[in-house]
Amino acid sequence: MKPTLMRPVGLPPSASTPLVTPLMPAVAYASETPDALDAQYDGHVRGYTYAREGHPNADVLARRIDALEGCSDGLVTGSGMAAVTAALLGLCRSGDHVVGGDQLYGRSLRMMKEDLPRLGIATSMADPTDAAAFAAAFRPETRLALIEVVSNPTLRIADLAGIAEVCKARGVLLVVDNTFTTPAAITPFDWGADVVLHSVTKLLAGHSDVTLGWIAAKTPELTRKLYDFIVTTGMTPSPFDCWLAERGMLSFGLRFAHAQQTARRLADHLAGQKGVRRVLYPTRDDHPDRARAQRVLRGLGGNMMSFELDGGRAQANAFAAAAKGIAFAPTLGDVGTTLSHPASSSHRALGAEARAGLGITEGFFRVSVGLEEAEALIATFDDGLRAAGAAA
Ligand SMILES: *Cc1c(COP(=O)(O)O)cnc(C)c1O
Repeated sequence: MKPTLMRPVGLPPSASTPLVTPLMPAVAYASETPDALDAQYDGHVRGYTYAREGHPNADVLARRIDALEGCSDGLVTGSGMAAVTAALLGLCRSGDHVVGGDQLYGRSLRMMKEDLPRLGIATSMADPTDAAAFAAAFRPETRLALIEVVSNPTLRIADLAGIAEVCKARGVLLVVDNTFTTPAAITPFDWGADVVLHSVTKLLAGHSDVTLGWIAAKTPELTRKLYDFIVTTGMTPSPFDCWLAERGMLSFGLRFAHAQQTARRLADHLAGQKGVRRVLYPTRDDHPDRARAQRVLRGLGGNMMSFELDGGRAQANAFAAAAKGIAFAPTLGDVGTTLSHPASSSHRALGAEARAGLGITEGFFRVSVGLEEAEALIATFDDGLRAAGAAA
């Protein structure tokens, strides 16, 4: 057999271009000469070198999310938590102080309470629905504030305008996790955010088959810091995951619109049912922050709703078991409706008393509404309610 060289590959020439972004799993990219590589590293020409530093599938995905958020140079990370970590550890140093919303995503809260203090970064939690209370937590050394616009699972709406104002006045970087709300409802850079991030895992990718994050900053200086931290700590996403997420994003706008419409219908339906103590949906008249939801979310209530059953764990068990075809699963933003029970999952570590303070009882469920037909979904919830009633 004739000896051959392993790597000089070439694609067959084609005058036409593929309709779908090619999947490029290459870890390394070959340059012609050391001079050519120099030109790349010096920024005179564009080119990839090593996948941890960037690759085409991540960039294609990032540009799509940039377009939705109205920014440029966003970075894709291997998970949403990687994006949260990049913001907190990439932009802060020992001696700094960070203020976080008191109902942040569970792991973000844990990072605030456990990991940052261990690294010499002090933290405080404050209620983001009250900008004055939030500002009261600021100290001279406060460097950064991290908030989510809609809280989990009680769906309270942050006073984004108020918080942005105090952050600006005090020179504090405002970081907004826009996962729950999505750029379909709000683009936080327009409200004064310095950094915006996502768990792309959720609504943006939308099919529960990739774990990814995205983060972008308002200035090139911040972007550079985030980029270097992400590349150094190896938060790089897999090209295949980026490719899948890009495919999922093609239908993001349609999915969001449909799921939101159904979520509103489901909320209105449940609110009238026996055995339902209360329903939480941001744009309903009985929501505590409805006026702010109209302003901040442009009246778009989103795909998330929560409700509380009469009774306790027995009723919750009966409901989840009888609502057949609705996955009882700890995620959100999937094409299928998913149900989560904060008392036994996301908020179990809090303890019953702290949960009660947030209004999270054993009968409390959070629903991420998917793409089922509304009629079928409502019928399934009714099955669950009947079973819960029978268990009373
Ligand atoms: C899921 C989620 C995260 C974490 O994202 P992963 O992709 O699971 O790492 C962060 N923030 C919010 C609001 C989330 O819902």
